[in-house]
Amino acid sequence: MDPASPNPSPGITKTYTNGEITVVWKPAACIHSKLCWTQLFRVFNPKARPWVNMAGAGSDRIAEQVDRCPSKALTYYQNAEFLQPKTI
Ligand code: SF4
Repeated sequence: MDPASPNPSPGITKTYTNGEITVVWKPAACIHSKLCWTQLFRVFNPKARPWVNMAGAGSDRIAEQVDRCPSKALTYYQNAEFLQPKTI
């Protein structure tokens, strides 16, 4: 499944990580703007499997590109923040 796939099932979520950040992909939310793969093809390649290559750029550059996704089909989180113990 990639941004070119038609009619993805709602609720499907895929994750891709480089150990530092995790990119979260919700295909049903994609509006096919093409920004991800036209601006950072080394990471987002709809013809590759998996279509997200987390080794294709540094975490900061990937996060910057994910922030440009107009539909928020792509989001990310920092793994260190996600794994922090919660204080009560
Ligand atoms: S930038 Fe977002 S909306 Fe545009 S093709 Fe990529 S995932 Fe889809």
